[in-house]
Amino acid sequence: MTTTQNSEQFTFQAEIKQLLHLLSHSLYQNREIAIRELVSNASDALDKMRFRTLTEGGSGDGMELEISIDPDTEAKVLTIADNGIGMTKNELIENLGTIAHSGSKAFLSQLGQEEKNNVSLIGQFGVGFYSAFMLADRVEVLTRSSQEETGWRWESEGTGQFTIEAAEDLPRGTQIRLHLKSDLVDEFTRVERLKHILRTYSTFVAHPLKLAGEHLNTQPPIWVEPKAQLKDEQYNQFYQFLTHRVGETPRWHLHLASETPFEFKSILFCPESNFEKLGFGKTDHGLHLCAKRILVQNDCDKLLPEWLRFLHGLVDSADLPLNVSREALQDNTVFRKIRKVLIKKVLDELAEMQTEKRDAYLDFYREFGAILREGIATEFDQRDRLSKLVMFHSPKIEGLTSLDEYVSRMPEGQEQIYYICGQNLATIARNPNLEIFRKRETEVLYLTDPVDEIVLSNLGKFAEKQIVSIDSADAKLPARSDSSETQPEEEVSKNVEGFEKVLELFRESIGDKIAEVRKSDRLTDSPCCLVNKDGRMSTQLQKVLSLQHEDFQMSERIFEVNPDAALIKRLSEISGNPENHEFIRNSGQLLLDQALLQEGIAPDGSEMAMRIMNFMQELAEAKSSIIT
Ligand code: ADP
Ligand code: MG
Repeated sequence: MTTTQNSEQFTFQAEIKQLLHLLSHSLYQNREIAIRELVSNASDALDKMRFRTLTEGGSGDGMELEISIDPDTEAKVLTIADNGIGMTKNELIENLGTIAHSGSKAFLSQLGQEEKNNVSLIGQFGVGFYSAFMLADRVEVLTRSSQEETGWRWESEGTGQFTIEAAEDLPRGTQIRLHLKSDLVDEFTRVERLKHILRTYSTFVAHPLKLAGEHLNTQPPIWVEPKAQLKDEQYNQFYQFLTHRVGETPRWHLHLASETPFEFKSILFCPESNFEKLGFGKTDHGLHLCAKRILVQNDCDKLLPEWLRFLHGLVDSADLPLNVSREALQDNTVFRKIRKVLIKKVLDELAEMQTEKRDAYLDFYREFGAILREGIATEFDQRDRLSKLVMFHSPKIEGLTSLDEYVSRMPEGQEQIYYICGQNLATIARNPNLEIFRKRETEVLYLTDPVDEIVLSNLGKFAEKQIVSIDSADAKLPARSDSSETQPEEEVSKNVEGFEKVLELFRESIGDKIAEVRKSDRLTDSPCCLVNKDGRMSTQLQKVLSLQHEDFQMSERIFEVNPDAALIKRLSEISGNPENHEFIRNSGQLLLDQALLQEGIAPDGSEMAMRIMNFMQELAEAKSSIIT
């Protein structure tokens, strides 16, 4: 320590010298974080001041605690000032001359030899006060402690030494004067640029932040307030602030304060509309992550799973140091803990809504259900809870229904949960596979979105009941209940021989296109239908998959024929005469074509056109023979 006139000279600790060297040679991209660090120090100093005023009694001096940032282009100085607690001479030496605090230490120890020049990591560490030397080739700290009458002036060029001397007439608090490096003067004295930096990192600082006199952080950090004291209006405002969706109000919000296992506060918002539905592509997913109200990360995607990506919001934790180390950010346990709590709370909220506010829930589900149900396939832990939240159409229910509700309506003896998938409700309703279910009053869920089927086949079972598509061979047809059927089943298909002949002729003409031709038990009116041989997926889903994957193999189909349908009865009657056999074979072809068409699968168009033409020809000849 040397003394010249009134100024004393000190030497930095060896590690600081090393750090300062790195910082002053750092890359452009990280420089703005120096501002974040200095603002955060100012905010800490104000917190301490407020705390002291509160604990030591007295009313303070009535001065409003605030942070000011003032650029001075001519002097090439950027000043960051606060009227907080300030520092005594000893504190100056201790705080700004040694490396006691964690951020910088962690940074240095992490920076392996070969990484010494890779200073791009600085942004992820936060090296605190010393980052000032990324912007300035000389830093002055003018400070007066709230405990003292005299102030001090600390100064350094970021090389080996710093000096301290007494300074008169200083207001309480600290001013950091950055004598900007010549190539940075333009950038870091430009108000717009500074505004952008401050908005990025320091929007939620709990004290007024003024840039050249303009109050920037007008959005108060409402998540730290108790819920009971907040009005909808304040939540709405905050929502608009976060999402920039001016004039929009959120559907619902959740305000959480968790103490265990990890202390954090959070507000989550569910927006009004799902932009993905409008074809905007996948929403960016993530929440703002703050540590004591300083933004650590925008859109932190580790806090929520993808299937909750429609939520907006913020998580603030005091347990997370501002200078979160790269390790901490990669250390999934912290995030995993927060994520777990958030998921639980969101699912609790949705489950409550589903029972308590049905209309709101259905409305929400129609908008965001498609995203939510992705979780069934991806989040194994939450499968049970999510499977109760998915909703489906059912002809028995207005609106939508859940699997729980379906099961509660199942009559005794029904072993499976049935669904059918199709392009829209009208097409589904025409599916001949439904006939036997309709006749026996058995409920079938109508799925208009193939994703719903993926969800259900992923679940496989619900409440111990197998979930099956009714057009699969796995579906057990509902048993006859006496009340639902008036005509006895034996009355049907008298002409067994004729019908067998029809099946045989059908096999001759279409046998190579399908796995099997057989008598159907599931039809009442329609002449025929198609059933999937291996029971995994409905035709609808297979269709979607075959569009997406060229080499996707559609499952083999069974062609089922209804002996009681008028057309088949007639064919059975005429099948005794070999002259009619070609006609019956052709009928088989056309029936297969129309069954495929009904499912939205295009048969060979030119072949089919020819067949129809031949039929018309035959018909015309038959007619003309009657007339003449
Ligand atoms: P950290 O903030 O992690 O402690 P910093 O390098 O940012 O590390 O700051 C070192 C210390 O210097 C702080 O802990 C604080 O005691 C002191 N300090 C820095 N800036 C101010 C300020 N504006 N007012 C009062 N004390 C400050
Ligand atoms: Mg700091």
